[in-house]
Amino acid sequence: MVDLQHIVDDLAERASSATERGRVATYIPQLAQVSPKHFGIAIVTQSGEEIVAGDTNVPFSIQSISKVFALTLALDKDGDGLWRRVGREPSGDPFNSIVQLEYEKGVPRNPFINAGALAVADVILSGQSPAGAVAQTLGFLRHVSGDETLQVDQAVAKSELDHGFRNMAMANFMKAHKNLENRPEDTLWVYVQNCAIAMSCRQLARAGRYLAWDGRIGPGGAPVTSSQRARRINALMLTCGHYDGSGEFAFRVGVPGKSGVGGGILAIVPGHASIACWSPGLNEVGNSLLGTEALEELTRRAGWSVFASNP
Ligand code: GLN
Repeated sequence: MVDLQHIVDDLAERASSATERGRVATYIPQLAQVSPKHFGIAIVTQSGEEIVAGDTNVPFSIQSISKVFALTLALDKDGDGLWRRVGREPSGDPFNSIVQLEYEKGVPRNPFINAGALAVADVILSGQSPAGAVAQTLGFLRHVSGDETLQVDQAVAKSELDHGFRNMAMANFMKAHKNLENRPEDTLWVYVQNCAIAMSCRQLARAGRYLAWDGRIGPGGAPVTSSQRARRINALMLTCGHYDGSGEFAFRVGVPGKSGVGGGILAIVPGHASIACWSPGLNEVGNSLLGTEALEELTRRAGWSVFASNP
């Protein structure tokens, strides 16, 4: 029997003494205020037990991890129609790259690069106000995490909006290709608000349960999406969840994962666990350096790679 508490205690201890911690994102100035010293990891297991170590109650900016939850909502709203507006292939380019958009006529490669997440935000926004669209995402996250206290960190949102020229360029470009229905500034606003939702590792690990258990909040729990949809979202997390570091994450960690520039990673071990890890320092492709290392060791010691025949 694997002693998960022992493993996460080891991981937190090792992280506390790590000297190379990566670099905190600075292009959103508010994120640069966060100390790189933080490290937290939270696991929700099949039995509902929560195994945690480190800073697991400190809220951080979930940033691109919000794209997983937004995708769930957009698929539930538009079904397979969404795939006319966004692809399902890894991009091999950085998360904020604009270059493929021109070659591919305003249709982003996948829902997890910024351009793809703008298309997803646009789907959610259609038919309601921008504030309503954000309330829907926040409401979904409160539901799946079982926590009504979740909020958007407005300082982070403002900081990103004040500096979000690249994302605005992408939104405008997609509008020119008729791949946005709404005003680019409204779609961008919804996207940025979603990214600025603050959550702790514990809250995030709870929120990911429906992806580990076929669309249900825990084994036998309430369904929030179909099992097919949960499975497909996991597939996209594995292939595209870490941008141009997705192959490396699959190689090293071996489970579906989604990173954010706030330093968080949501990792899903289907049928076994939902895991949230946080360390704000990033590697060169914008994924948490210590978070990736910790997850690599956790999946190895727990035997959780989806590519191995573990029970
Ligand atoms: N809000 C961030 C951006 O658009 C999200 C990027 C990320 O987390 N990788 O740049």
